[in-house]
Amino acid sequence: MSYRAAESRYAELPYRRLGRSGLKLPAVSLGLWHNFGDDKPFENQRAVLRRAFDLGVTHFDLANNYGPPAGSAESNFGRHLREDFRPYRDELIISSKAGHLMWDGPYGEWGSRKYLLASLDQSLRRMGLDYVDIFYSHRPDPETPLEETMSALDQAVRSGKALYVGVSNYSASQTLEAAKILRELGTPMVINQPNYNIFDRWIERPDNSGSSLLEVLSEQGIGSIAYSPLAQGVLTDRYLKGVPADSRAATGHFLKESSLTEEKMAAVRALNEIAAARGQSLAEMSVAWVLREQAAGSVTSALVGASSVSQLEANLAGAAKLEFEDAEIAAIDDASAG
Ligand code: NDP
Repeated sequence: MSYRAAESRYAELPYRRLGRSGLKLPAVSLGLWHNFGDDKPFENQRAVLRRAFDLGVTHFDLANNYGPPAGSAESNFGRHLREDFRPYRDELIISSKAGHLMWDGPYGEWGSRKYLLASLDQSLRRMGLDYVDIFYSHRPDPETPLEETMSALDQAVRSGKALYVGVSNYSASQTLEAAKILRELGTPMVINQPNYNIFDRWIERPDNSGSSLLEVLSEQGIGSIAYSPLAQGVLTDRYLKGVPADSRAATGHFLKESSLTEEKMAAVRALNEIAAARGQSLAEMSVAWVLREQAAGSVTSALVGASSVSQLEANLAGAAKLEFEDAEIAAIDDASAG
């Protein structure tokens, strides 16, 4: 059946300004790293994407290598765009990235101008788009001069193939330097995409620049989107009663069953109780926590994954209660320390 978006879609989620840019993102965005490759049923993908947009999710995050196989998440998303979302292109923020291994030889990964711009062209072809809304350097390249990587991002914008640019997995000091280069080029860095969740808080800690990534972003007026806010599903009820056969820990390569230690699961159980006392599920509380006001700087959007419509709905519900008592923050710190 042909798709018509729900009339109510903009009454569902808050939209938050991305740093000092003109762009707003939904408090919760959807990532297509898992669950949208050729290994997953197209119908399920369609159901999740339609429900997301109906519930106000305007931002979908991709990268050249998402799949499996690499590239298939963008190809599948291109088909969803053609079949369902074409009339809504101007209501969508679609991002892609280049940085990880995508093709053989010396030009298929890292941060050269050669790789970034060729990869962006490939991503546009796979998705059937003229431009992406945000294009990222997916990871810092220790060998390519940062000036070259940033000037490739600048060129992506000047050529009309990207509207905004950002970086992912860059430390505080790398972000500071990259933002300065981009500012000089006349194309501001508007977003940084780090991993951030109750268990993984590196962006709160100062690095050799003397500041944390959150502080740098706040000082520089750069927005952020926190990836894996559920620690790939660990910060939900997914693993409370063992490891389900269809879960990421059982089937994927990125979340190892061996990481679900007794100690980790004891922390998850304690966090689950704190969430229940707040009247939330653990997934909801984990999403709310990355968006909380007490964060040292502000996270604009929580970038979740979902393998089903019910997971998606549960995660979006997290944006309904972002306030935390100081005692709740302290209890979460205690439960997750160690
Ligand atoms: P999450 O931490 O949100 O984990 C998502 C997974 O957790 C789901 O696939 C599902 O796993 C499980 N899950 C989600 N919601 C629920 C729920 N309500 N109840 C129970 N289980 C749930 O994020 P991801 O790790 O998937 O990352 C999100 C996005 O971030 C990616 O798609 C990508 O866009 C981006 N990302 C960026 C990276 C970068 O380097 N820039 C790196 C990693 C991610 P299951 O399969 O078990 O059902």
